[in-house]
Amino acid sequence: MIRDKAFSIPFKGLKQGVHRFDFEVSTSLFQQVETSEILGAEISAEVILDKKSNFMEVQFLLKGVATVICDRCLDPVDLPVEYDGKIYVKFGEETVEQDENLLILSRAEDELDVSQYLYEFAHLSLPLKRVHAVDETGKSGCNPEMLAKLREYLIDDNSELN
Ligand SMILES: [Zn+2]
Repeated sequence: MIRDKAFSIPFKGLKQGVHRFDFEVSTSLFQQVETSEILGAEISAEVILDKKSNFMEVQFLLKGVATVICDRCLDPVDLPVEYDGKIYVKFGEETVEQDENLLILSRAEDELDVSQYLYEFAHLSLPLKRVHAVDETGKSGCNPEMLAKLREYLIDDNSELN
């Protein structure tokens, strides 16, 4: 799990009820994970924490832009990030990620580090097909040199088949 003090919510001192926290999620969060598919990011995250008597409900609203590698031309492409998700935090002997929406937090903790969730939810919001958009004239935003190369290979493949 990623730990990052910048995305820590000190919840112990909070009163019961709803509290809002705003975070700017930038490239540095994703650089902490070697396998991150997001290479760059400018994401605004609003975290709404509802503190109840014996658990917490935490909603994540993400909005921004993430840079990933285009599936077609392998150049970087900026894609919109938009996510609305919720987790529940209960308390136990030790911190365990029970499932993707339920965190058991050690009673010894007085801060909730949400960096892992920001990382995961940003990835979850990415579209399945990560390619450069096509403009209004029908022209692909992909790297034209790479597209030309791909076309050559496609023709070669076809000629082999015939
Ligand atoms: Zn592309």
